Amino acid sequence: MLSLEQSEQFEIYYRMLVEWNERMNLTGITEREAVYEKHFYDSLTVMMRAPQGVNNIHTMADIGSGAGFPSVPIAIMLPELRVTIVDSLNKRIQFLQALTDALGLKHVKGVHGRAEDVARRTEHRDRYDLVSARAVARLSVLNELCLPFVRPQGHFAAMKGADPRLELEEAGNSLKKLKGTVRKVDQLELPQERSERHIVWIHKTDATPPAYPRKAGTPAKTPL
Ligand code: SAM
Repeated sequence: MLSLEQSEQFEIYYRMLVEWNERMNLTGITEREAVYEKHFYDSLTVMMRAPQGVNNIHTMADIGSGAGFPSVPIAIMLPELRVTIVDSLNKRIQFLQALTDALGLKHVKGVHGRAEDVARRTEHRDRYDLVSARAVARLSVLNELCLPFVRPQGHFAAMKGADPRLELEEAGNSLKKLKGTVRKVDQLELPQERSERHIVWIHKTDATPPAYPRKAGTPAKTPL
């Protein structure tokens, strides 16, 4: 259930998203119902499906968060969660700073940079209980961008639209190199629009080997 404060936070989020979207490219979806379903509700599915249970998640990193999906809706629902948002576009980080200030979300921090570089810093490497990414890259690339942030025994949630089977087939080598194993794949449906969504849950078994992630740009150019 949403508290009154949380409903108001989602409303402020919606208004700021549409307002800032007139000045910068944040989303192609601006109709109210659609934002609530395709951005807010869709983001919350990660929290609802987390295999370790939300009570065991204290830290989260969202890689390539754009306008804050999925991490900001999750932070509204779990205000004590410590959230780090990484995005390579500074304008988006500026939007997220203004947004989280307006929402009073004290535990959300934005980091401007490429995931490949940020994951080299000790305060972010092998640190987070949960790491998420939605609409950033194919799984073979995402594994190298996201798994270095996950602490051993933590999880990475790769949010996908259509059936991720093909992406999973080509991601075997990146999983092996980055110490990930697929724990489960959730199949979901948006309640009104009824389109399909998937969450690939990857469990991290060990610390990130020193060679990874490779230089910024290399994961996308030459996927493992
Ligand atoms: N996750 C959001 C969503 O689902 O609406 C945004 C998706 S948007 C298509 C991809 C975002 O990933 C962009 O904001 C882009 O700047 C960011 N991005 C792409 N590659 C990145 C990298 N290597 N490191 C950090 N951010 C990256």
